Amino acid sequence: LSDRLQMFVRRTTGRAALTEKDIDEMMREVRLSLLEADVNFKIVKQFTNNVKEQALGEKILKGLNPGQQVVKVVHDELKRIMGEESVGLVYATSGLTKIMTIGLQGSGKTTAIGKLGLWIRKKDKKNVMFIAADVYRPAAIDQLKTIGKSLGIHVYDEGIKDARVIVKNGLAYAKENNYDVVIIDTAGRLTIDEDMMQELKDVKELAQPNDVLLTVDAMMGQEAANVAKSFHDQIGATGVILTKMDGDTRGGAALSIREISQIPIKFTSNGEKMDTLEAFHPDRMASRILGMGDMLTLIEEVTSNIDEEEAKNMMEKMMSDSYNYLDLQKQFKMIKRMGSISKILGFIPGLGKMKDALSNVDEKQFDIISVIINSMTEEERKYPELIDKSSRRRERIAKGAGVQVADVNRLRESLVQQKQMMKKFANMDENQLERMSKN
Ligand code: GDP
Ligand code: MG
Repeated sequence: LSDRLQMFVRRTTGRAALTEKDIDEMMREVRLSLLEADVNFKIVKQFTNNVKEQALGEKILKGLNPGQQVVKVVHDELKRIMGEESVGLVYATSGLTKIMTIGLQGSGKTTAIGKLGLWIRKKDKKNVMFIAADVYRPAAIDQLKTIGKSLGIHVYDEGIKDARVIVKNGLAYAKENNYDVVIIDTAGRLTIDEDMMQELKDVKELAQPNDVLLTVDAMMGQEAANVAKSFHDQIGATGVILTKMDGDTRGGAALSIREISQIPIKFTSNGEKMDTLEAFHPDRMASRILGMGDMLTLIEEVTSNIDEEEAKNMMEKMMSDSYNYLDLQKQFKMIKRMGSISKILGFIPGLGKMKDALSNVDEKQFDIISVIINSMTEEERKYPELIDKSSRRRERIAKGAGVQVADVNRLRESLVQQKQMMKKFANMDENQLERMSKN
């Protein structure tokens, strides 16, 4: 967020409301910010007009100054345009799931296929195969095969041949060999071209894909939206993978794509390594586009329905010796409600920025842990040492939860680690906390 906007927001502290002139001044900064993120100017204009209207009518929330309130309106509107929730893959209800990728040459299609294959196998535990149907460049086939090999994912190819034939045979092969998911790599050109579109249409007709994912290079900025629209109008896409988000782009393409073609952005691709695919999160993207992480965190804290008192109590409990599985369970419920442990930490001065380190806790992991705690007796939850002492108890709990004993042990370790970590915080003085929050 521009320094001037920050300053402006600070200046509004203590004021009851903003004048229209104030809001206009803020909108000018927001406009610049969006243009800098390479959002299409028409969209920017429409957006700021829209936000201005809302901001004029908005009641000021307790805890926010009028300037922050306007920033919140801006952020919410961005989020709304990009879709409130992240949208996942579409799987066939039975049989083979077919995913087709489309996109310009160089947009990151083949790379994204590799990442997606890994994602599907790892997160959704499905057996994936690729079909090499980008038949114009032998190098393209080799590239996919190299990626497949590195991941241990089978690549169906017939060399250079009609793409339609390869896709047809590849799908038959996948069914015969009981694959759950196939991802089809297709040909792109440097620019949109009739032959390419016809071939893609044919492949789509033939494969009847559950998902048609369009890769778009985020570094293209607003031009990305036009490319997306052409593909969508002619082929029909069900989702976008926004690639090369590891570049220095602020991601304005995400907004333009959504606004112009309406296709949901499902993933972002963030590098050349295979494990750099991420589900698309509209709220994070909104923050990135505006470049105002810090202020938004503040706004979130004020507006989320957190019981601050409860969070503080939990912190104290975590630092005490009697911290047990019941507390852990309560903490999880809180985290579920609040979104992350980072917010709890946010209430301790100086620890707000620790959040990155701690926000990596996997959602699925929560579910496993909940099941394990549910399989404990009330006593065991209260006195963790009962479990520490008895392998019979650990086995019984694992069995009840339908997990491995190793999972139970991991949970025991994490309880211990949390206690240790919290103790460390508790023993730090102000300066140490300050330093820690800075890096
Ligand atoms: P395709 O022609 O659409 O199949 O594109 P490729 O997958 O071959 O990617 C084109 C180039 O962009 C390659 O050099 C990739 O390594 C690179 N690339 C793809 N995705 C990303 C990404 O998310 N980040 C970065 N930095 N490079 C990428
Ligand atoms: Mg390719």
